[in-house]
Amino acid sequence: MQIKRLRLTGFKSFVDPADLRIEPGLTGIVGPNGCGKSNLLEALRWVMGETSAKSMRGAGMEDVIFAGTATRPSRDFAEVSILADQVGEDDEMEVVRRIERGAGSAYRINGRDVRAKDVALLFADSATGAHSPALVSQGRIGAIIQAKPGERRAMLEEAAGIAGLHVRRKDAEQR
Ligand code: ATP
Ligand code: MG
Repeated sequence: MQIKRLRLTGFKSFVDPADLRIEPGLTGIVGPNGCGKSNLLEALRWVMGETSAKSMRGAGMEDVIFAGTATRPSRDFAEVSILADQVGEDDEMEVVRRIERGAGSAYRINGRDVRAKDVALLFADSATGAHSPALVSQGRIGAIIQAKPGERRAMLEEAAGIAGLHVRRKDAEQR
């Protein structure tokens, strides 16, 4: 799967709609302190189903919604969308996550309302996903080095693309 476009509205510091093309070969984001580099990486993880507000550097998930500045009022919702090519398929796929104050998160795939679980399964065994080793955020290198063996094994399973098997097995056991 290749993510080709990232679109944000009202997400953290990206209050106005922002559209970013992700070209092959993109390996890093640079810019002055506080310009929103980490926010972009968090937007990618968030739309792919991140459930931990803490890993979004917030106390609750609604903290991803633009909180306002001295000159601009806060927003009531945040929305992030990614456009992706799927291996072996002609059609592009759009995944959207939206959060509204007091209403929680909602997901759409190609315009259809889906469950959080559907999005999680979609990304569970690809190299993408909220915990993809392809997304190296600030401090992640140190975390990999300092991880306990079991934690490092989980990272390697994600990197090898077999993490999805555990999710599916759990799902099958519950049926
Ligand atoms: P550094 O180089 O220091 O790592 P960075 O480019 O990674 O910086 P970010 O951490 O992505 O920067 O962005 C930080 C900015 O985002 C801060 O100015 C912070 O106030 C703003 N910000 C974060 N959450 C929100 C929010 N919910 N509403 C408005 N602004 C926000
Ligand atoms: Mg940063």
